[in-house]
Amino acid sequence: MMFLWRSLVCLLLAVCFVGGGNTAQAQYSNGIPVLLYHHVSDDKTELPELTVTTAEFERQMALLHGAGFSTISPSQLNAYMEEKTVSLPAKPILITFDDGYDDNYFNAFPVLKRFGFSSVIFMVGVNIDREKRLSSQQIREMSDAGIFFGSHSETHRNMTTLSAGELRHEVKTIKRKLEAITQRDTELFSYPYGYYNISAWEAVELAGYKGSVTVLPGLNKPDRDNQFLLRRIPIYNDTDFNALFLLLDQNQPKTKLLQYSPVLKKIG
Ligand SMILES: [Zn+2]
Repeated sequence: MMFLWRSLVCLLLAVCFVGGGNTAQAQYSNGIPVLLYHHVSDDKTELPELTVTTAEFERQMALLHGAGFSTISPSQLNAYMEEKTVSLPAKPILITFDDGYDDNYFNAFPVLKRFGFSSVIFMVGVNIDREKRLSSQQIREMSDAGIFFGSHSETHRNMTTLSAGELRHEVKTIKRKLEAITQRDTELFSYPYGYYNISAWEAVELAGYKGSVTVLPGLNKPDRDNQFLLRRIPIYNDTDFNALFLLLDQNQPKTKLLQYSPVLKKIG
């Protein structure tokens, strides 16, 4: 009887453990989403398609926050993609920005702070301290406040057209600059225009990055997706974020997310 009772307790514990594990895992069983923004501004004179108003950005962040999404760091994403042991929140997400516009500091940063969200901002080396782009001082302040910075190359050229020497320059110079400003490791790289090939990928990996992001749509999952070809979901001015949000919240399979954005617009 005692033996039976013990067996039953063991069985129950096993069921609870496995069941609980599955429930937690199921939250992102189809992979982790990475969103891509450019401008967050009420001024739509520059790249209107890639500009989300501040109010709309705030609404989108509020939806994610209200549904229990938590932003994770590049290190957490990299560890997950490498199938290492890593502690992740139930609903992990990455919010990224390409090109490093100063509206990311003035408009997006206060909203992110309000919701306790982090993000990754991909900078172009030659644009640091330029007009309408983030300054070294702004980068330092945001980095100290928990925003991560990644490389978006040194000069924002199409990497598929560059020589091996040019590729080395594009990936290394910006990494050195960002690490000098933030005093933190720059782990992620974003291919300009989303253009990549094997040489670009190799240059990025050899420079010591742990991963790189593209504009291939969908979610990221180890055993299926490549850490140096990470998928992102671009958010345009006319994105139906409510429809996307439902897919994200239910962590729908990649196929559904692919249906969501069939037409890929030109990315800066
Ligand atoms: Zn760009």
